[in-house]
Amino acid sequence: MEINKLGEEKIIDLINSKVSTPNSSIVAGIGDDAAVIDTGNRYEIITTDMLIEKVHFNLSFTDAYHLGRKSLAINLSDIAAMGGEPLYYLVAISLPGHTKVQFVEEFYQGMQDLALTHGAHLIGGDTVGAEDKIAISVTVTGQVKKDEVIFRHGASPGDLVYVSGFLGDSAAGLKVMLKGLRGRLAPEIESYLIKRHVDPEPRLHLGRQLAVNRLASALNDISDGLVKKLWEIALSSQVLIQIDPETIPISDQLGRFSRQLNISPIDLALHGGEDYELLFTVPPEQEALLYKHQLPVKKIGQVIAKAEQGEVYQQDGHLLSDEGFKHF
Ligand code: ADP
Ligand code: MG
Repeated sequence: MEINKLGEEKIIDLINSKVSTPNSSIVAGIGDDAAVIDTGNRYEIITTDMLIEKVHFNLSFTDAYHLGRKSLAINLSDIAAMGGEPLYYLVAISLPGHTKVQFVEEFYQGMQDLALTHGAHLIGGDTVGAEDKIAISVTVTGQVKKDEVIFRHGASPGDLVYVSGFLGDSAAGLKVMLKGLRGRLAPEIESYLIKRHVDPEPRLHLGRQLAVNRLASALNDISDGLVKKLWEIALSSQVLIQIDPETIPISDQLGRFSRQLNISPIDLALHGGEDYELLFTVPPEQEALLYKHQLPVKKIGQVIAKAEQGEVYQQDGHLLSDEGFKHF
């Protein structure tokens, strides 16, 4: 059978069932945003993500500097999704022989600039030659106190569902570039949406706030569409989640983009990917504390009940099916 018949999740399930071995130090292995390892006093967090040219990025839409930043940012986002803080990173990169030396310099400068703002340090990697496309694999390690870590599986009935920032901007920015819509929008809207796609900001500070103040029972970063991420929490926490799509935070810029091009901003927010905001559940008794901290977050729904297979519904009873980015 070919892998595209199985799909990404089933392939990961297959790998998990064949290879995973129990080990008392592995607190979380395959199945969360990052692996969590018990190293004694603290938990160590490890995550890796890969970017392939023409699949995850296109050099006519971004430059080496921002590609470097984003390659690291998407991994830092997975550290944020555990409530952790980053420590070190490794970069394996495969480059065609005709790649300019300047590309390498700018790529690493981008990573370095982002890394330093979050206290992460490059400790190694690998460099190989390739036929045509660039491939980048970044691994980041981090740490979190044992009583601060936040998994996907902690949501309980009664918890409130929150997201950070604005959703859908990144998908709109990608659309502007893919569909050749440059020049059709006000320049400040175009540059805002494109920046949200090309230069996402990992929400490490918010992740730490949630962790330190124990505000969240489950946490995920929104790397693919919101609906896919709601399903991940619903499945791993075995709960039924209900959200009201009308309450999803939409930026003014996305609102104006959507009106002008007659595209639903809610659809972009629900199914578009790469916002790298945080999605989390808050126990009702912690909600007052969440407000007190005045975090840039918004309530979009609630965990309604236990549900062994996980379920995600709209307020009106409509099932929200998972149509996030499909790799295969
Ligand atoms: P995210 O979107 O948060 O980066 P992924 O969907 O990429 O997470 O991965 C889901 C889980 O599956 C993670 O725990 C990840 O480590 C694991 N995983 C993904 N691909 C593989 C693989 N090829 N081998 C082993 N584990 C994998
Ligand atoms: Mg993730």
